[in-house]
Amino acid sequence: MPITPLHATALFFLHFKDRRRIDPLALAISTTFIDLEPLYYILLGETLDHRAWHGFTLALTVYPILVTIGVYMTEQLFEGKLWTVYKWARLNPVKARYPPLNIYLLSLLSGFSHIFLDAFTHREMLWVLFPFANGNPFYNWQAVIIIEATVIMLSIYSLWCWMKSIEGATRIGFLQNQNRWMSIQFRLLSSPKFDC
Ligand SMILES: [Zn+2]
Repeated sequence: MPITPLHATALFFLHFKDRRRIDPLALAISTTFIDLEPLYYILLGETLDHRAWHGFTLALTVYPILVTIGVYMTEQLFEGKLWTVYKWARLNPVKARYPPLNIYLLSLLSGFSHIFLDAFTHREMLWVLFPFANGNPFYNWQAVIIIEATVIMLSIYSLWCWMKSIEGATRIGFLQNQNRWMSIQFRLLSSPKFDC
C-alpha cells in the first residue's frame, strides 16, 4: 500500500451504507493502527519494518481485541467530542457510541483487510503466515498493480458516498426549513385578525 490512510478510505463506504452498525472511529483506527509497527521500526532505523503484527495470526486474534477495548473506552469517555468531530467532518452521524460486538467484528474485518492488502504489495512481510509458514508467498508485481488500482477505486467510491451523504443531509435540512417556514406562514394566515 502506498499510504496508510488508503486502508481506511477503501472501506469507509461501508459506514455510509449502514451508519447504525458501522462505527466510523472503529473503522478508522482498526484499518490504520497496525501501521504503527512499520513506523516504530522506521524510527529505529531498521530496514525490516513489517514484522509480527503484519501477519494474520496477530491481526485476527490480539489486534481486534486491543482495538475494541481502546475504541469502546474512547466512545464511553468522549461521546460528545466524537459527535462534534463527526458533525464537523459532515459524516451526518446517527450515533457516536457503538456496541462492543460491532466494534470487534469491524476490527476483525479491518485487521484481515489490512494484512490481505499489504501481503500482495509488500515483499518483505516474512511473518504473514506465522507460525504456519515463513516468507511471503502472496507478493508479485501484477498483484501490486491490481491491489493498488482496486484500493484507489474503492477510495473514490467512498468519497462519492460521502458527497452523496452530504447532499442528502443538505436536502433534508432544506426541506425541513421549508416545512417550518410554510407552517409559520400558515399559522400567521389562519390566526384571528384584530382590527383597531
Ligand atoms: Zn501495513
